[in-house]
Amino acid sequence: MDTVKSTLQAVQTRIAAAAELAGRVAQDVTLLAVSKNCTADAVRALAEAGQKAFGESYVQEAVAKIAALADMHLCWHFIGPIQRNKTGQIAASFDWVHGVDRAIIAQRLSAARAPDQAPLNICLQVNVSGEASKSGVTPEQLVELVAEVRDLPGLRLRGLMAIPRATADVAEQRAQFALLRQCFEQMNAQGAGMDTLSMGMSGDLEAAIAEGATIVRVGTALFGTRIRG
Ligand SMILES: *Cc1c(COP(=O)(O)O)cnc(C)c1O
Repeated sequence: MDTVKSTLQAVQTRIAAAAELAGRVAQDVTLLAVSKNCTADAVRALAEAGQKAFGESYVQEAVAKIAALADMHLCWHFIGPIQRNKTGQIAASFDWVHGVDRAIIAQRLSAARAPDQAPLNICLQVNVSGEASKSGVTPEQLVELVAEVRDLPGLRLRGLMAIPRATADVAEQRAQFALLRQCFEQMNAQGAGMDTLSMGMSGDLEAAIAEGATIVRVGTALFGTRIRG
């Protein structure tokens, strides 16, 4: 079997094992292949092995790849920091945006989404580690942001995302993911209607799945150590 296919299968096996351990079904966890810094050819090889959803962090680089791979009909997620002056390009090119943490950005994405496109799927970013360097709203600020975003016509509020403090301590990983899940449950109890928890990366996807992740964002484990940033 070729290496791209076996690497993909190894990650899928990790996801399936983590899901089983958590009493969940593997189909409820979507693998998002994070292809930032990868070539269009590397994305194509993974797509040909069966991978459908890809995550990108840099608009310029992503737009070129999306055009080069249009024939593959992939699902593209923007997972990078969102600059105000890039919201038009993001809304035009992507299916999902993770990491929305300001109402003004949501409003601009909504306004830029063309009426003939399906609403843009949105995840709101929550700062679960409390680190000042991290983007995302606090759990307390989330109520207000959900209210500001949920009725925007060009968007569909799908869920929450987090980038926790990197740690090898599984209990600490789980505590941060559990906080995101609690935010998710609280918002849904108030009628937010979300179905997505975007959390977990190459190093901590097992802990994330144990805490309810429905999308894991995996770069390094699929593409090797070229992934950074
Ligand atoms: C790069 C990146 C990932 C992938 O991280 P790996 O550790 O390489 O799996 C996931 N999420 C975000 C937001 C990223 O920027």
